[in-house]
Amino acid sequence: MDQRFVVDTMLGRLARWLRAMGYDTLYPGETGDRRLLDLALAEERVLVTRDRMLARLAQPRECLITEERLDEQIREAVRRLGLRPREADWLTRCLECNARLEPRARDTLRGLVPEHVFATHAEFMACPRCARIFWAGTHAHRMLDRLARLVNGETGG
Ligand SMILES: [Zn+2]
Repeated sequence: MDQRFVVDTMLGRLARWLRAMGYDTLYPGETGDRRLLDLALAEERVLVTRDRMLARLAQPRECLITEERLDEQIREAVRRLGLRPREADWLTRCLECNARLEPRARDTLRGLVPEHVFATHAEFMACPRCARIFWAGTHAHRMLDRLARLVNGETGG
């Protein structure tokens, strides 16, 4: 079974990238250590944090992040957690609220997405929780390229 995560307050951007890789990732935002530990315990989630003390309390389900830059943090998380992100899972989860995206029929979206996007894309996904609509546009391609570079073991960047 895939690992699931709960991410500490100061690692919000890393949380989004774990979601981008398809991992079930809670990010409660501003909250206390107690709640983070409770979530980790109750839902068998690995606690991802920069706080050594908190990481110690969460053992053995903890991932201590020591890197400062986002790219390095993503690599560090993948390495420490022994993740093997599958490309088929990338961009299958809402970056904002963690729900799994669902396919949405194109003809239901006229007027809901920009006209040029509607005209040039055949496939759309929607978040069942926050109703955001996603498509494979420039931003998505940039994220996929960045993930490929980060998790496929290349050292550049
Ligand atoms: Zn959402």
